[in-house]
Amino acid sequence: MRTTHPFDDDHLREECAIFGIYGSGDAAAHAALGLHALQHRGQEAAGIVATGNGQFHAHRELGLVGDIFGEENVIKQLEGTMAIGHTRYSTTGRPNLRNVQPLFADLEFGGFAVAHNGNLTNAVSIREELVCRGCIFQSTTDTEIIIHLMATSSGTVIDRMVDALRQVDGAYSIVAVAEECVIGCRDPHGVRPLVLGRLGDAYLLASESCAFDIVGAVYVRDIDPGEMVVLNGEGVHSHRPFPPAPKRFCIFEYIYFSRPDSVIEGLSVYQARKRIGGELAREAPVDADLVVPVPDSGVPSAIGYAHETSLPYEMGIIRNHYVGRTFIEPSSEIRHLGVKLKHNANRAHIEGKRVVLVDDSIVRGTTSSKIVEMVRDAGAKEVHMRISSPPTTHSCFYGVDTPEREQLLASKLDIKGMRELIGCDSLAFISMDGLYRAMGVEGRDPSAPAFCDACFSGDYPIRLTDLDDGATGRQLSLLAEIA
Ligand code: AMP
Repeated sequence: MRTTHPFDDDHLREECAIFGIYGSGDAAAHAALGLHALQHRGQEAAGIVATGNGQFHAHRELGLVGDIFGEENVIKQLEGTMAIGHTRYSTTGRPNLRNVQPLFADLEFGGFAVAHNGNLTNAVSIREELVCRGCIFQSTTDTEIIIHLMATSSGTVIDRMVDALRQVDGAYSIVAVAEECVIGCRDPHGVRPLVLGRLGDAYLLASESCAFDIVGAVYVRDIDPGEMVVLNGEGVHSHRPFPPAPKRFCIFEYIYFSRPDSVIEGLSVYQARKRIGGELAREAPVDADLVVPVPDSGVPSAIGYAHETSLPYEMGIIRNHYVGRTFIEPSSEIRHLGVKLKHNANRAHIEGKRVVLVDDSIVRGTTSSKIVEMVRDAGAKEVHMRISSPPTTHSCFYGVDTPEREQLLASKLDIKGMRELIGCDSLAFISMDGLYRAMGVEGRDPSAPAFCDACFSGDYPIRLTDLDDGATGRQLSLLAEIA
């Protein structure tokens, strides 16, 4: 029996991060550091698989990268000059060790491990077919279907991987390791990021370039949409195994997910956010005394907004960075404090002021409602909310774990309704055209957008096979909920 995904708390999920390295004497240590830099993309669990001389060593655990791989001897046991790693986002319910990546299997050609960021939109259908053919699944992640498709294919590891990936729909950036190579691949639309780096003679792959900075590696280039790269003793080999498709990189990576110090396709994420803030200020100016970001995600766009309007910028809200994910709120009186665990108003800078509050997005409206109340309680005269993304009206099926559509505030209410519910004096979102302008795309063509903007437009660039088949309305992480 399949149940629906119980997305029943106020904590949104992030996606995953992947890392790969070929040709390093410290492959596992580099992977651990790289994953640590990518921790913002997922905090539930992490894993590394390392190899070098035919032996594969794996370590996977629930928890944070630093805690898992900071333990004495863990890295030492992960011998080898090649490694791949993964950090996993959180899911509702009990975290499950068998779903922690990289996944490993002994296939006909030898050992093979794979780690994936994204979501396969026909995974339920393929899994059902594979199960009927006798495949026994060890995990409940969509990623495992890639291993089974490879196991039932033929030829080299590359032939099998291409064959497997040609059968899947969805968004994926993948790193894999076999006995003699590390492989990286992005789906034909390039929805999720993947970058190539170099450290001396070693080559690296990572979700974001900030993972290279931490180990002193240099960013070489982004892996192209639909490109598969093979890192081995002869360097980097590029393959284009899929029919070309329009590029549709996830615009929300620039708005929220990626770290501001990462560079994606030549554009610094921080710069992009500042430009979005500037565009937002041009589109939705307001008479006010100061600009305040909702930290951390609202910071660069608030700087852009303040710069454009020449209003003072103040840290009017302070964020507590030590809120543990497993913080146990002891009673309902404490629990109702909600977001105050994470944010507090900086009263001295807010009292008596007309405040422009800048955040990156409104999903269910929980954060904004509580923050507006908090800023008012701290004595703000007016609170004007400015959002550096268009209204989030649609769920993501490509790896960003958003709630179902009915829970998205903007799918139920217009701007006036949202403003009333959040309780601010004015509310404005950047327009889709404004967002594209900020991203350097003049004259957005809705029939051929340069990005995947499905969460704002409902324009899903990749078939939602499982959803259309009525198999599930959720991403396949939900297979965890199959009873
Ligand atoms: P909500 O309180 O449901 O309206 O969520 C909005 C807040 O969550 C904003 O402050 C965003 O920075 C943040 N956010 C938006 N999308 C995500 C996501 N997929 N995962 C985690 N946080 C998110």
